[in-house]
Amino acid sequence: MRPRLRRTRLLTIAFFLVIVIGFFFIWTRNNLTINDHSDDYVSLRLQKDQKDYIDRKGVHVIVGRFMGDSIDSVNTANISKELINKNMFDPRPFEGKNGEPVIIPPKDYNQMTQLYRINRFNLMASDRIALNRSLPDFRKRKCISRYSDLSGLPKTSVIIVFHNEAWSTLLRTVHSVINRSPRELLQEIILVDDDSDRDFLREPLDEHVKNLSIPTRVLRSRERLGLIKARLLGANEARGKVLTFLDAHCECTVGWLEPLLEAIGKNKTRVVSPVIDIINDDTFSYTKTFELHWGAFNWELHFRWLALTRRLLKERRDYSIEPFGTPAMAGGLFSMNKDYFFELGSYDEEMRIWGGENLELSFRVWQCGGSIEIAPCSHVGHIFRKSSPYTFPGGIGEILYGNLARVALVWMDDWANFFFKFNPEAERLRDKQQVRARLMLREKLKCKGFEWYLDNVWPEHFFPKDDRFFGRIIHEPTERCLMRPISRGFYIQTGYAVVDVCSPRLLLGQMFVMTKNGIIMTDESLCLYAPDHETSQKQPKVKVMACNDMPTQKWKYDYKNNLLIHTASGMCLQATDEFDVPPFIAPCNKNDNQRWLLDTVPWK
Ligand code: UDP
Ligand code: MN
Repeated sequence: MRPRLRRTRLLTIAFFLVIVIGFFFIWTRNNLTINDHSDDYVSLRLQKDQKDYIDRKGVHVIVGRFMGDSIDSVNTANISKELINKNMFDPRPFEGKNGEPVIIPPKDYNQMTQLYRINRFNLMASDRIALNRSLPDFRKRKCISRYSDLSGLPKTSVIIVFHNEAWSTLLRTVHSVINRSPRELLQEIILVDDDSDRDFLREPLDEHVKNLSIPTRVLRSRERLGLIKARLLGANEARGKVLTFLDAHCECTVGWLEPLLEAIGKNKTRVVSPVIDIINDDTFSYTKTFELHWGAFNWELHFRWLALTRRLLKERRDYSIEPFGTPAMAGGLFSMNKDYFFELGSYDEEMRIWGGENLELSFRVWQCGGSIEIAPCSHVGHIFRKSSPYTFPGGIGEILYGNLARVALVWMDDWANFFFKFNPEAERLRDKQQVRARLMLREKLKCKGFEWYLDNVWPEHFFPKDDRFFGRIIHEPTERCLMRPISRGFYIQTGYAVVDVCSPRLLLGQMFVMTKNGIIMTDESLCLYAPDHETSQKQPKVKVMACNDMPTQKWKYDYKNNLLIHTASGMCLQATDEFDVPPFIAPCNKNDNQRWLLDTVPWK
């Protein structure tokens, strides 16, 4: 009797222990989730202005072209001039080899944090990596044989513009070009110093480039040109048949150049970018990125990476390593035939400092008869920063939206009005832009319109068009609007749709496009989604997630009964008058809560 009793007691204690530990576990997990959300919040704030993209599962991946800090140049305010001016390049054997991360010991954290602010990347880590560090060969086997024959390929000038770049990143870019390009394809390297004020970027740089095995020149501007005019300065001096532009913090991997030059050699109207891999701004580890993403832009004309659409993947099945057309390029890394560059109007010289030039060139090339492409066999790493380290004279908003206003006015036809309508910051700068010369260029080159571009280059685009609905989707009984999920004022990339008070002013998050095929989409290539089978819940909640052209993202509007019917499930979109309940789908029953109005908003 006694031992049994003891065993029972032991079992009971064990049982309770398991429960307590279990609860504790769940509690910490929940806490973690909550923390995750707050991290989300922080990164969302950053994401608003990043070039970020959504992968096909709807997971948000940050690969950003960030906008600069609005608090211009405050970044370096507390750092002494001596420190900024000091070249602390101090390579350690094997540090960062093969693209591995650099680990800084805790004792150096203080200085590391301070140095980080100078370039907005981990300068201390960069300074510990050799200029010729090794990197993996990322090419598919097919790529190697495909580009083994160099005969007949044009030579290129490599043009690298910089403004106050770090010594180690700038020269690692240069050395990676020299070490990983076939000698016979390199005409020269041209460095364009856009009014840097670091001492080590003057004589020491001139001295260093004298000894390189590829002719390398440093051109200097003593006034701040901005990257657009700085690249033009380099292009005007270039002797190669092809111009290859790189940012000043890149690392080329073996075989990067051949695919770019091969495509241009075949047809000079092809403008080709490598796959842009990620050099981590913290650890300087090198991460290969997706080969099958292309570049596009959102309703604010911010650049975005998007997963290749199913249409394209299908079309490309047998050509998987050939370059493919992309609606837009990131802009920092690409090759282009020099004559074609100038015939096509080089760059818009009225664009200042940074931003918009990548879309301007992308639209111009496509609309005037060329193509923008990505070569999946070519891999070049780039440090993506979370913010810009340099000043934007006149203010980042003024500069970026001024540049974008120019892009819209010259190239986007009716869609320019759409852009201005929803981007008051650009609208404010609209009348200040003199674009006559660029419009004349468009005329002279007999370029096609923006509608042609959308239809042919980017059929999956999420912009309004005359053959689709654009406007608000209003829940009839509550007069509230369907909208993208937001959290504390910032849009979330994936999550449950929301039904909220309709905004009296036009709010992008409450605008939807519905195509003839029944896809309900909104900015950022997000689509209204519901599951196709009866899940554990009887009334599955409706989400927005990355568009994927699947039946679970298709809907039909029943004009007679004002129903939105989900194709895959046959159920109806429904909402309640409670604020916290996301819209869901439920069996269609002509209940008032299933009634929706498509409220057209004029966009031109
Ligand atoms: N740059 C420049 N002048 C400027 C701004 C930028 O020469 O006024 C250079 C910069 O040093 C870099 C390239 O232009 O080599 C692209 O800038 P950045 O890397 O900041 O752009 P992102 O990669 O963030 O788009
Ligand atoms: Mn860059």
